[in-house]
Amino acid sequence: MRLLLAEDERRVRAFVARGLSEEGFQVREAGDGAEALGLLEAEQFDLLLLDWMLPRSSGLEVLRTLRARSDVTPIIMLTARDAVSDRTLALNEGADDYLVKPFAFEELLARVRAVLRRASGRASGTLSCADLTLDPATRKVVRQGKEIRLTAREFALLTFLLEHAGEVVSRSRIVEAVWEHDFETFSNVVEVYIRYLRAKIDEPFPRKLIQTVRGVGYSLRDEP
Ligand code: CA
Repeated sequence: MRLLLAEDERRVRAFVARGLSEEGFQVREAGDGAEALGLLEAEQFDLLLLDWMLPRSSGLEVLRTLRARSDVTPIIMLTARDAVSDRTLALNEGADDYLVKPFAFEELLARVRAVLRRASGRASGTLSCADLTLDPATRKVVRQGKEIRLTAREFALLTFLLEHAGEVVSRSRIVEAVWEHDFETFSNVVEVYIRYLRAKIDEPFPRKLIQTVRGVGYSLRDEP
């Protein structure tokens, strides 16, 4: 797996690069945004670790440039900015995940692995989280070997949650993705559909996957 690490703080960069190399990743390093964009144009990477505050093109500019040229390289933003609005902005602009500095290396590693897993799931078509899988081609949803029948809207909601497994997604992002234009002013529509979905995919099973993140939204993840 080839990773690109764009980080201008030399000590952080050296620490992260060494840790990831020890875990078997090939790591290329960029010290600013322009260098990162150059490398991304010239080479293929499986994942980009992107610091937000970078000289010569900020992380956010790099993110926007990549997504504007339809580059789908998975991106984890590294940021000292932990306001909900900043995190939401990064995710809305197409980041796959974010990590607030200072972070523990173990957490970075876990997120790198989760994002890579998700990206390989996207490539194979099947989405999954723990023992739950969804096949967009056959529209089949299975948990612990049992097929679960969902309505079209529930299916769309679960697809969105699985595509963003491990992330916290806000209600407004869910509305935008799942309801698009036919959404009117039915303010608790997301809560209602989350409840329908929980009744089918979580309640019959001991491990709950849909987590409520108070004041923010929801997260589908395989952990308490
Ligand atoms: Ca920085």
